[in-house]
Amino acid sequence: MVLEKCIGAQRSRRIQRALRHSKVTILCLVLTVVVLRGTIGAGKFGTPEQDFLEIRDHFYSRKRAEPHRVLEEVQTTPSDPNNYNAFDINKILKDEEGEEEKPDPNKPYTLGPKISDWDQQRSKWLKQNPNMSNFVGPNKPRVLLVTGSSPKPCENPVGDHYLLKSIKNKIDYCRLHGIEVFYNMALLDAEMAGFWAKLPLIRKLLLSHPEVEFLWWMDSDAMFTDMAFELPWERYKGSNFVMHGWKEMVYDEKNWIGLNTGSFLLRNCQWSLDMLDAWAPMGPKGRIRDEAGKVLTSALKGRPVFEADDQSAMVYILATQREKWGDKVYLENAYYLHGYWGILVDRYEEMIEKHRPGLGDHRWPLVTHFVGCKPCGKFGDYPVERCLKQMDRAFNFGDNQVLQIYGFTHKSLASKRVKRVRNETSKPLEVKDELGLLHPAFKAVKVSSS
Ligand code: UDP
Ligand code: MN
Repeated sequence: MVLEKCIGAQRSRRIQRALRHSKVTILCLVLTVVVLRGTIGAGKFGTPEQDFLEIRDHFYSRKRAEPHRVLEEVQTTPSDPNNYNAFDINKILKDEEGEEEKPDPNKPYTLGPKISDWDQQRSKWLKQNPNMSNFVGPNKPRVLLVTGSSPKPCENPVGDHYLLKSIKNKIDYCRLHGIEVFYNMALLDAEMAGFWAKLPLIRKLLLSHPEVEFLWWMDSDAMFTDMAFELPWERYKGSNFVMHGWKEMVYDEKNWIGLNTGSFLLRNCQWSLDMLDAWAPMGPKGRIRDEAGKVLTSALKGRPVFEADDQSAMVYILATQREKWGDKVYLENAYYLHGYWGILVDRYEEMIEKHRPGLGDHRWPLVTHFVGCKPCGKFGDYPVERCLKQMDRAFNFGDNQVLQIYGFTHKSLASKRVKRVRNETSKPLEVKDELGLLHPAFKAVKVSSS
């Protein structure tokens, strides 16, 4: 399938190139005829230099932009090594073969060597490194936002453009809220490919960054749509794991969409390492993941038949071992730590009309998550056009709050172009910070200490 698609694409690119080439040839022919007719009609043949000048003038008086384009197209033949347009990326994306270690099928899967005294190890480290506090304000933990995407380019290059928008969006939110960002593109454990890739990564980051109190995982297909909303950190004092979800749906119904694992907080502590160990066993791809998928589909409400995914596995763990984990898990639904795009994107205009950023809930959602869209993959569950159009709207909705700080806004939610909303001033520091977006991180620290 993959091969077929690549070959097909190559062939159509070749045809396109050939067409472009023949277009150039025809254009040159027409050009010669036009010029010849002109010079013959005028009854003179000049020197080559004169001819060139005449050709130039002739074209400039007719179509100003054309000669440049003609020259460019003639110069950039498909074999031109400077031509990005004609370059086949597969030339440099050869997969190295035979270097992968094969996992031992007789050994049960583990995320790494067992650690059981992480809390002691970490608190000792924190005492030894007082300049690296795990809190950056009285009630503000040090947070690391982690996201990522596959090491390979997207199926369609446009997917990579949306990944870029998505990380730009996260960088903006994090900068405004004093949060660090880690973007991962490495598959740390080949067995845990796809949606399971976050588990080995999260464990590695918790152990390598003892200064981080909360790790915030966020999918690449989720975007911040409220740049002003600060998480209610105080509320999570007694919790280690915060996800968007509903108790009844998870614990009573065992519904596979009772919670979402596209955006969650995990505290850096022994409990979380244990949770990761309990979470991982359904992940290894192949037979284990396939068999686990069957268990999950039969145990959970509404789950389609497919391989085990991290979200279903989490619902399963909580629903079957509530006593073990439940008291440290916070299922948040007072605001959208994750918000399903389908119920939000058509209401952005209404939100702008009626509300202001900083609310985080249905009035101005913190996160809009494009579940099922797969802009980087081959196939999603929704029409591509709808997904991309709505992702643009979500991006612009969030981006308007960033641009506003600098006196700009998008012309509309559908437009990448911007317009001015404030006139330039010679006293830039006296501009009112209407949405309080200029330094919310600083504000959050100040508010909580007062
Ligand atoms: N992901 C990754 N590497 C991969 C595949 C996925 O880092 O090779 C991340 C990416 O951020 C993605 C998330 O894992 O959003 C969840 O994966 P899933 O397959 O569920 O993708 P989604 O439906 O969120 O696009
Ligand atoms: Mn997702």
